[in-house]
Amino acid sequence: MCPALTEDIMSFRKATIAAITEISPDCKQYIIELNEGTFTGEAGQHTALQTDSGVKPYSILGVDEARIGLMLRAYGTDGVADYMDTQSVGDVVQVKQELTGNLTLQQTDRPAVFVGTGTGITPLIGLLQAYITGGGPQAVFMFGEKTQDQLLYKSLLEQYELTSSVETRFSLSREEWHGHTGYIQEQLPDAVETVGQNADYYVCGVPAAVVAAKDRLDELAVPSDRVHTEGWEDAQVA
Ligand SMILES: Cc1cc2nc3c(=O)[nH]c(=O)nc-3n(C[C@H](O)[C@H](O)[C@H](O)COP(=O)(O)OP(=O)(O)OC[C@H]3O[C@@H](n4cnc5c(N)ncnc54)[C@H](O)[C@@H]3O)c2cc1C
Repeated sequence: MCPALTEDIMSFRKATIAAITEISPDCKQYIIELNEGTFTGEAGQHTALQTDSGVKPYSILGVDEARIGLMLRAYGTDGVADYMDTQSVGDVVQVKQELTGNLTLQQTDRPAVFVGTGTGITPLIGLLQAYITGGGPQAVFMFGEKTQDQLLYKSLLEQYELTSSVETRFSLSREEWHGHTGYIQEQLPDAVETVGQNADYYVCGVPAAVVAAKDRLDELAVPSDRVHTEGWEDAQVA
């Protein structure tokens, strides 16, 4: 067996599902607690779940020693997310203990913009929380989805808007409503005008949207070292 594979297998640990909450018609939030030990890593990073249906990476909503929060969309494909969809509180799953990934909080002494689509909102929720806790002065949280029933964590974000210096912008691409319509990256010129080119821009989500947002930020003269992405654009996610 090659060393990398051995290391991967070794790093999966048993963990118990402590809570499950429905977030949208096809998305659920899971609080997972390691049976032994603690997670290593920080907000914005990802773990992986190993199931009979395969191994897939999942960003964390947050981490607190032995516990992490995950949010998964089930596609009805019998994949890992569908396996998790059949699980109940108290069931045991295999999870990677070391959190990895480059999408981590940069500085909290300058404005920050979070741009998410679909399940790409997951690491951004954790990063926003860390930014607020760190005393960040001004945040814009932008989230794009197809329809209103998929506006994940809308009420939580509205609560942040009430209590912290966070402005939220939602946009729907497939439904008319009272708010913005169209792809979320179309709202970027407004956001850049509000917080400036020197803010940190955290982008995560549907691959095409991440690429489009990066291109738009480039056109808007945001330096590339201020644009932070997870790299989901290389993976097949929706
Ligand atoms: C770094 C990273 C972090 C990630 N974090 C998250 C996360 O926080 N939450 C999350 O849900 N996912 C996340 N993903 C995606 C995740 O890893 C899996 O790709 C996803 O859960 C699908 O895997 P699966 O085994 O359930 O489905 P699979 O059996 O692989 O099939 C699902 C695939 O079908 C395609 N599909 C798209 N739309 C539909 C549809 N309407 N119906 C059916 N199939 C469709 C998608 O391309 C999807 O990959 C992340 C991916 C990466 C690379």
